[in-house]
Amino acid sequence: MSDTNAIDIRGVTKYYGHGDYRVAAVREADLSIRQNEFFTLLGPSGCGKTTLLRMIAGFEFPQEGDLILYGENIAEMPPFKRPINTVFQNYALFPHMSVADNIGFGLKMLGRPKTEIQARVAEMLKLVRMEHLAGRATSQLSGGQQQRVALARALAPAPKVLLLDEPLSALDYKLRKEMQVELKRLQAETGITFIFVTHDQEEALTMSDRIAVMSAGRILQVGAPRDIYDRPADRFVADFIGETNFLKGRIGAIEAGAAKVDLACGVSLTGPLPDGASAGDEVTVMIRPEHSRLTREGGALSGEVASIVYFGTDTYFNLRLSDGSTFTVRQQNRPGEESAIGEGQTLGVMLPDAAIRVLRG
Ligand code: ADP
Ligand code: MG
Repeated sequence: MSDTNAIDIRGVTKYYGHGDYRVAAVREADLSIRQNEFFTLLGPSGCGKTTLLRMIAGFEFPQEGDLILYGENIAEMPPFKRPINTVFQNYALFPHMSVADNIGFGLKMLGRPKTEIQARVAEMLKLVRMEHLAGRATSQLSGGQQQRVALARALAPAPKVLLLDEPLSALDYKLRKEMQVELKRLQAETGITFIFVTHDQEEALTMSDRIAVMSAGRILQVGAPRDIYDRPADRFVADFIGETNFLKGRIGAIEAGAAKVDLACGVSLTGPLPDGASAGDEVTVMIRPEHSRLTREGGALSGEVASIVYFGTDTYFNLRLSDGSTFTVRQQNRPGEESAIGEGQTLGVMLPDAAIRVLRG
């Protein structure tokens, strides 16, 4: 039911520029974001994530389509009237103001009584675990602490929806991991709907309830992390999320909803028939490297080990198949298990049925 959604985006299109310089930053976007969801917009730089977020916030207006907030059309509603707040990548804190004054700033602008502001600021300081730094100027804080202040400030007026535009990209790896956990905790504790933007697929997979994958202004797929990873809708999504082997082929036969695909390397693999595909169509078989295993005897595929890359937790074995294409097998390393596999050996690849996905085109 749409009235239980926090936000419904219906047929939204946004152009920038005019004439030959016109760019469709977002095209015919349809998306529903549920209440209390940790929702992520994921896609490469320039795909339209920020533009979509800015339309939700009210800083930009779509030329076509509707934006519905809790069942109400907000197309004409100015940003400050929307129960929505944004955390920007650069935090945009007031450097000479104290942590507490930064957090209370929005409430002060709304003209709330002083005692209410003080109580709310104290609550927010506790929420982001910054009580001991309440009086410090934000210019005297580390990057992670500034990020917490920015979050507390955005959460202070109790928005219904919090927008976060690549908020972690300025932090180093370890701090980013810490803040990912922190953001999940804040979302769970406040129950506020979070719309999070990132170009980092791992960040999206680990943090989100659901993800929308975008490319060139379009939403290609919406789903839970597992759906997107295990059942990507198309080649772009399969390629952008995780690592994937792609093998070109043609559907040789269809039996009981399964497509038997004749691959260029001379082998046939069987997987679920993609919607609308028929015998004779050119298709691509996708197989995740970690879903395959090397074997000395048998196997659905076989190839020569061209290179071996040790990654600490795993090892990548890059095989050359008979048609010259490459297939990567990723195996977990176990203590005391020295691999006897060497370059130049010809080995088989074991593939469980569920590892094989067939994509159109
Ligand atoms: P993302 O946040 O995914 O990197 P953006 O939403 O910032 O993508 O940009 C989407 C597209 O719109 C890009 O092609 C970008 O160059 C263009 N664009 C963004 N903002 C403007 C603007 N103010 N004027 C003109 N083009 C813009
Ligand atoms: Mg952006």
